[in-house]
Amino acid sequence: MISRAFVRELKRAVGSDLILDKVEDRTCYGFDATGIFQLPDVVVCPTRPEHVVYVVRLARREGLPITPRGAGTGYSGGAVPVRRGIVLAMERMNRIESVSRADGVAVVEAGVVNGVLQQAALRAGLFYPPDPASCEFSTLGGNIAECAGGPRALKYGVTRDYVAGLEFVTPEGALVRCGVLAEGSLAPYDLAGILSASEGTLGVITRCALRVIPEPPHYRTLLFSFSRLSEAAEAVVLLTSANVVPSVVELVDESCLKAVRSAGTSDLPIGEGQLLLVEVDGEEEEVEDTARRVERVAEKAGCTGHWTSSSESERENIWSMRRAISPALAKLSPTKVNEDVCVPRSQLSRLVGRIESLSREHDLLIPVFGHAGDGNLHVNFMVDRNKAEQMTRAERAVEGLLRATLDLGGTLSGEHGIGLSKAPFLEWEMGRSGLRLMHDVKGAVDPENLLNPGKVGPDGATGGGSEGARTSKCS
Ligand SMILES: Cc1cc2nc3c(=O)[nH]c(=O)nc-3n(C[C@H](O)[C@H](O)[C@H](O)COP(=O)(O)OP(=O)(O)OC[C@H]3O[C@@H](n4cnc5c(N)ncnc54)[C@H](O)[C@@H]3O)c2cc1C
Repeated sequence: MISRAFVRELKRAVGSDLILDKVEDRTCYGFDATGIFQLPDVVVCPTRPEHVVYVVRLARREGLPITPRGAGTGYSGGAVPVRRGIVLAMERMNRIESVSRADGVAVVEAGVVNGVLQQAALRAGLFYPPDPASCEFSTLGGNIAECAGGPRALKYGVTRDYVAGLEFVTPEGALVRCGVLAEGSLAPYDLAGILSASEGTLGVITRCALRVIPEPPHYRTLLFSFSRLSEAAEAVVLLTSANVVPSVVELVDESCLKAVRSAGTSDLPIGEGQLLLVEVDGEEEEVEDTARRVERVAEKAGCTGHWTSSSESERENIWSMRRAISPALAKLSPTKVNEDVCVPRSQLSRLVGRIESLSREHDLLIPVFGHAGDGNLHVNFMVDRNKAEQMTRAERAVEGLLRATLDLGGTLSGEHGIGLSKAPFLEWEMGRSGLRLMHDVKGAVDPENLLNPGKVGPDGATGGGSEGARTSKCS
């Protein structure tokens, strides 16, 4: 528990307007999109890197835990302050410093929202590809800390591929710059790479240099419907092995489609069925050619209907539908346990078959959607967290999904990270030695385990299987 004297010291140091100590304010910073909650003792909203340095040093002096936080849209509990202490809410460090066409780099503070950078890049005729479906809210610091992916990852890669340099504060309170922000040094260790996907456990990111590329001049969005989910999954494999490179291949199952329709979120140009949303981009001729080839492959794969966008507003309508899936599903039941597994594309249809069996075996509605083009599926277990028996069934089903994913050569998290919810299962994927090595890295950088404790560090839940799943990703 933090003393009043400590809060007064914080207020004097960074300004009382940047400190939230009332319970009603702190409550807003105790959870993320999983719904897992722990009230922090105090929230600090820095506006300058020096504030972060100061707070980290003070916390270290007092032995207090710090949890960095962006927008709290994380789906793995990473921003939940499980050991209480200080939440460092980075949302007010939201300045875009530059977007340079000449350098192909944008320099931004960590609290800038992804979509705000995307718009700024477009205004400069440039393109920032990583586009998590949370792009209207999630911050670039949070995106880097989770190595966020998104629909366009298939062609353009994930957040890590766009990090050209970082400024961050170490758990000791030192301000470090690396990559292009370190003014050209070629260092042997890729510090920006280590910070990417570190889930706020190795450093607090304050500024980021992100690669921006020329904007694709033309887009075409296509929808294909299939009678069975396995056919849609097979079509993904046919598409990606046919020497065509769409920028997006998203799978949307029938129950997601129904959820979006019943939420009244969107007017959809295509009827019932399992959907593949495909987008191609590039020069006009290339777009025409790729779209034609995509249509031919989808027909061969047995699609029962198809539709092609003919204007930017039609394209935007389809993307609104895609972004509306998660909120629409949340209306179907009080609790949505959300997993984001990823398998080699060739195994997608076996994975969807396994999910259908889990749904029958455990008598649960399990809607599926996601970035199938890179093997990534969001699997949602619709339950009510107040019904213990339902939650037990969901835990067993989640465990079955994770085991099936690993059996098929996949990984437990395609993009949402490990955080609290996957920590109990990490050993299944990494093995004991792999896990120990990760703990050694954490121990070397943060020996007192003050930065985001209780997550992937040695004190995180590990190896508990379904026992640990009680903290799973509910929203
Ligand atoms: C509707 C919805 C759709 C989503 N779609 C996608 C998707 O398509 N792809 C995808 O990858 N994810 C998706 N997500 C998950 C989430 O949006 C991403 O993980 C995102 O990167 C989190 O950003 P945030 O700013 O909200 O971070 P938070 O949730 O606040 O924090 C996430 C983690 O990052 C750490 N962190 C935050 N800021 C910093 C910082 N400055 N320095 C160090 N550590 C920091 C936190 O400690 C925590 O561990 C979705 C979430 C929702 C709710």
